[in-house]
Amino acid sequence: MGKSKGARITITLECTCRNSSNLNKRSKGIFRYTSSKNRRNTPTRLELKKFCQQCNSHTIFKEIK
Ligand SMILES: [Zn+2]
Repeated sequence: MGKSKGARITITLECTCRNSSNLNKRSKGIFRYTSSKNRRNTPTRLELKKFCQQCNSHTIFKEIK
């Protein structure tokens, strides 16, 4: 895993439900996906539609810091 030019980075995707009040505080935390992106191709925050176990449906997952 030597050479890294920094274009490919690992990101965390979090469902937009994280801010909603129906978040169960006893759950193991917020459901997240990890992914990777090319910073050159996607300079903005990545958004992907994925299945959220907390929403029990497909929702928009946004890249978080
Ligand atoms: Zn959700």
